[in-house]
Amino acid sequence: MRAKREETSTEDSIPYPLSPIPYILPPVSCPLEQLGDHMGNPTGFIEIPRGEVGHRPIAERIKDWYEIDRPLVELALNRQAARCMDCGIPFCHSSGCPVKNRIPEFNDLVYRDRWRDAAANLHSTNNFPEITGRVCPAPCETACTLASNDEPVMIKHIEYQIAERAFSEGWVTPLKPKTRTGKRAAVIGSGPAGLAAAQQLTRFGHDVVLFEKDDRLGGLLRYGIPDFKMEKHVLDRRLEQMVSEGLKCEPNVTVGVDLGVAELRKRFDAVVLCLGAGKARPLAVHGADLDGVHFAMDYLPQQNRLTAGDSISSGGRPLISAKKKHAIVVGGGDTGSDCVGTAIRQGALSVTQLEILPRPPDDANPETPWPFWPKIMRTSSSQEEGCQRYWSALTKAVTGKNGRATHLHGCEIDWVEGPRGWEMKERPGSDFTLPAELILIAMGFVHVVHEELVEKLGVKLDGRGNVAVDRWMTSVPGIFAAGDTVRGASLVVHAINHGRLAAAAVDKWLKK
Ligand SMILES: Cc1cc2nc3c(=O)[nH]c(=O)nc-3n(C[C@H](O)[C@H](O)[C@H](O)COP(=O)(O)OP(=O)(O)OC[C@H]3O[C@@H](n4cnc5c(N)ncnc54)[C@H](O)[C@@H]3O)c2cc1C
Ligand code: SF4
Repeated sequence: MRAKREETSTEDSIPYPLSPIPYILPPVSCPLEQLGDHMGNPTGFIEIPRGEVGHRPIAERIKDWYEIDRPLVELALNRQAARCMDCGIPFCHSSGCPVKNRIPEFNDLVYRDRWRDAAANLHSTNNFPEITGRVCPAPCETACTLASNDEPVMIKHIEYQIAERAFSEGWVTPLKPKTRTGKRAAVIGSGPAGLAAAQQLTRFGHDVVLFEKDDRLGGLLRYGIPDFKMEKHVLDRRLEQMVSEGLKCEPNVTVGVDLGVAELRKRFDAVVLCLGAGKARPLAVHGADLDGVHFAMDYLPQQNRLTAGDSISSGGRPLISAKKKHAIVVGGGDTGSDCVGTAIRQGALSVTQLEILPRPPDDANPETPWPFWPKIMRTSSSQEEGCQRYWSALTKAVTGKNGRATHLHGCEIDWVEGPRGWEMKERPGSDFTLPAELILIAMGFVHVVHEELVEKLGVKLDGRGNVAVDRWMTSVPGIFAAGDTVRGASLVVHAINHGRLAAAAVDKWLKK
């Protein structure tokens, strides 16, 4: 039974920009035992159509770096939460959400107007719901039982709203440990895995130092994800909570270079490597060394720094900008999409995105039936802002003038299954040339950087070059690892999950 989709009206949206919010918190009791057996509104999914989060108009939002979403108002939220049905096995929780958020429970609490209990429930499984509520691709929603033949519950947005409400009501306060263990743990790398591990270990009562080689904390949350997806005050207010809980932070320290391995082992009883997967996949074609060809992760952090008020030239680096240039993004994934939105805001003459894989099906894909993550055609809000996209497109060369890139040359390909698996085959006569003064390489990441620390520690790697772990411990006793360092380039929610699980393993090991 499919109800018509609910359009987001202006009355349903909180006007942008949101007013500044205070952010510290008292602990709250877990409300689960007070819930009944059934969802508050068992027929809500029949009566109420799904709503959608609005976006600021394109013409307005491409002139600034603020978040683009227009959140629903509380009344609309209550209706959306009422769509969560009594489905028996909540696949959203059991197979969709990596941190195992207790989704039907917080939906029901929102429906019953018990927001503070909903916030306690949500924080019991996820350290940073205000972050996942903004940037998670929401595998919970594609796994929602309703999604099998209808529109899923707006789980991600309800999560966002609960988290924002918790901050604005002052329910987010430091959760200091009651006793201290005297054990010392170092967490290296302050992306979502490192932040989650550090917060959990601090709350377990250990003395934790979080090291970060960048000047600010947050990893890719700070210097990868653009502000139009997540403004950085969101990170700062959470960091303030973590520091108040007793976490010590040391930015501007590259462990393995500024702090040697021997000293690290001497100072700490346990170490958690949350270094990310920083080794980018290169574009190995003629002309890739020309000026104007850059890795996405040399480009995006610069804009995040500029948005934060930094001056790029003061760091001695050349400014990479798309202003008045034809920009081409090589790579059709999320990093590429962030490059698209950034280039458009910088004033590119045109933005083109090339993807080497074929165009996915528009709707259902039999290869990925419910409740799996469907491999279907998606258009990001950045692509919507004005980007020409090509699929099955192979980059063959870059040419230029006076050492600077001017054109990208490519062709269309077919993927053919051969004896060695899928292989690319050029489509005869499909060569193309595009003007390109800025070429951004967003072709994914190979694995964690080995040279700075991983090799010096002597930890074993898996077949893909990631750090190998057994129950979160590496091959070197006392050294643990989590996040993209272990999984390869992935998602924020997986990193948070890894950080939490690794922290639990460290805690057990330290208490042995
Ligand atoms: C541009 C971009 C956009 C993305 N957008 C999304 C999104 O919208 N949603 C989503 O779910 N995922 C997104 N991702 C993926 C997501 O950001 C990552 O999966 C996640 O951040 C991984 O977390 P992490 O903690 O493992 O590593 P990271 O976030 O990479 O953090 C690792 C940190 O370790 C530090 N470090 C490394 N070596 C050392 C050392 N020797 N000493 C000290 N510090 C060190 C690094 O400086 C870095 O700060 C995006 C990724 C990119 C690149
Ligand atoms: S963290 Fe992601 S998968 Fe989990 S409930 Fe939130 S949006 Fe869904």
